[in-house]
Amino acid sequence: MDDQHAYQALKSRDSRFDGWFFAGVTSTGVYCRPSCPAVMPRREHVCFFPTAAAAQAAGFRACKRCRPDAAPGDADSQPGTAGTISLPLPYRPPLDLAALLRFLAVRAIPGVEEYTDGAFRPDVFMPTDLGVRHALTRLGRPADPTAAAAAAQRWRPWRSYALQHLWGVLDDQGAGSASPPLIP
Ligand SMILES: [Zn+2]
Repeated sequence: MDDQHAYQALKSRDSRFDGWFFAGVTSTGVYCRPSCPAVMPRREHVCFFPTAAAAQAAGFRACKRCRPDAAPGDADSQPGTAGTISLPLPYRPPLDLAALLRFLAVRAIPGVEEYTDGAFRPDVFMPTDLGVRHALTRLGRPADPTAAAAAAQRWRPWRSYALQHLWGVLDDQGAGSASPPLIP
């Protein structure tokens, strides 16, 4: 993608381009995802980077609104339509989604993962996992395996994403914080 197309993508705030490039705004020193609702710089004030790390290295700060520096494991939940959440899954471009889905489809483990109608649904949840129990405790949720398994029922058939999100909670809060309380 050349700079002209990248600028068009930025103007459209098309989230399909998220992860493909990052836009640094020279007038503010901030860099953003293409879909950022906050950014619409003039063409001469924007430069493009293939990765968030490249934008950081060039001296740009991550935008607080679109969190272009969010790494795998600390993806933010974003509001979706009523009763749903949209959980962005970061990836490193280039991404051939169709090939990736084909790869996952033939390797899906029956009863655990399924591929139907163009969607891959990984549905693993480990209520006895110590990380899961610590994360639930930190979130103020019941952490005993029976309660956790029951709560996870409503995350079907994407419980693997919930699992990933819970482990991310430990990453976010692990450094420098007190030891997690012991679970009875
Ligand atoms: Zn932004």
